[in-house]
Amino acid sequence: TGKPKQVKLVLLGESAVGKSSLVLRFVNRDYVENREPTIGAAFLTQKCATDDRTIKFEIWDTAGQERFHSLAPMYYRNSQAAIVVYDITKASTLDKAKSWVKELQRQANTDIVIALVGNKLDLAKDDVEGQEEQGESTEENERQVPKEDAQAYADEAGLLFFETSAKSAYNVDTLFAAIAKKIPLE
Ligand code: GDP
Ligand code: MG
Repeated sequence: TGKPKQVKLVLLGESAVGKSSLVLRFVNRDYVENREPTIGAAFLTQKCATDDRTIKFEIWDTAGQERFHSLAPMYYRNSQAAIVVYDITKASTLDKAKSWVKELQRQANTDIVIALVGNKLDLAKDDVEGQEEQGESTEENERQVPKEDAQAYADEAGLLFFETSAKSAYNVDTLFAAIAKKIPLE
């Protein structure tokens, strides 16, 4: 009841892992293949109701942080939540995600809620649980990052962890709901 609690959330991760696609799936309930890349950063908002309150996410979808790393603190400073995204079909993107997590844990708010997200799950044909497109078993499995490895790292670092598909929408709402739930009450 009352006014929704505003929660500043930042997305970080290597370019092309699907940050913008995840946010647009969550906010617009839509997915566009090969959209134009984000320039600078995009700002979007979306509400999310948990059992006991409504949260209004104020989302900063960053881009270009690979080249202009020094801009990142501007977006994660004062953030109460962060989603650090990697691409399950590209192992190097998990290394990048881990370095973002390290930076957040050193420099961001001490009580920031961090979620590690392995996106593009639709390209992993070994894990079709809950996914709609199951008729593609002849396709090659493009997974490079085992789920167990990322989960073990996330547990150790104290992060929420989900594998998602912005394309199929799998786990996208679940991800934001889990973050909303973990945001401390005032
Ligand atoms: P960003 O640079 O991290 O914001 O990544 P984008 O959202 O721009 O996505 C980069 C590319 O990956 C685009 O061609 C997307 O269509 C594609 N992509 C994003 N999410 C998914 C996904 O869940 N599955 C698949 N197969 N492709 C995705
Ligand atoms: Mg983007």
